[in-house]
Amino acid sequence: SNVETLLKVSGLSAGYGKIGVLNGIDLTVGAGEIVALLGPNGAGKSTLLKAISGLLPRTGTITFGGQDMSKAGPREAVNAGLVHVVEGHRVFTQLSVHDNVMLAGYGMKGSELETRVEEALRFFPEIAEKRNDRAVTLSGGQQQMLAVAQGLVRRPRLLMLDEPSAGLSPVLVDRVLAAAAQLRDAGTAVLLVEQLIEKALKLADRVYALARGSIVLEARTSEDDLPNRLEHAYFGQD
Ligand code: ATP
Repeated sequence: SNVETLLKVSGLSAGYGKIGVLNGIDLTVGAGEIVALLGPNGAGKSTLLKAISGLLPRTGTITFGGQDMSKAGPREAVNAGLVHVVEGHRVFTQLSVHDNVMLAGYGMKGSELETRVEEALRFFPEIAEKRNDRAVTLSGGQQQMLAVAQGLVRRPRLLMLDEPSAGLSPVLVDRVLAAAAQLRDAGTAVLLVEQLIEKALKLADRVYALARGSIVLEARTSEDDLPNRLEHAYFGQD
């Protein structure tokens, strides 16, 4: 493909203590691309995002924007523009929408921070109009939007979203996933873990399937016969 590579992961392995989960993962995300990461429960999708964002120790190499990030911790990753909205991310329910986004901008100076907060909230008019309300008053979908806005305040070059649709009604799922398309249109790359395969395939430019800690399929979503190949990748390994 002719897209500039933003993230390049090579031979990445990771796990929890002595428990190995990921075995030699190779994966790329191009600048401004949406890449879906699919796979059955327990395949290691969340583990992979955590290993990339420095939340877990790992081996292998990670380059991001041409910079070696193989040894980077979470703070360094965020500062480089590699932002991870973790699975089941909880907002501060007793704080206002505005203050939740502001808190996620820790370390930024006042006027710059306010600019970034407004910029992040512009993506989600539904919650921007509730900026002074406590987050507890938001619906589940709106809380997901707030979680994404918290990531956006860091001005990511790559936003990694771990099941942003979890627990949402179909309409809200579409709304939250539409935000990913909006982000891509604004030039932000998205690496998306998603259980809803059809929706993910509609949205993404490329897809990886992970099974038992290994990449078992890589494809462009425009390729023929992808649903069958995915099914085989999920279930046809034995
Ligand atoms: P799901 O959709 O269920 O979240 P997943 O593909 O994201 O699945 P992971 O959450 O990455 O999968 O889990 C991969 C493997 O790592 C599983 O076998 C899981 O039991 C194990 N695992 C996850 N978190 C931990 C942990 N904190 N300590 C030990 N093992 C873990």
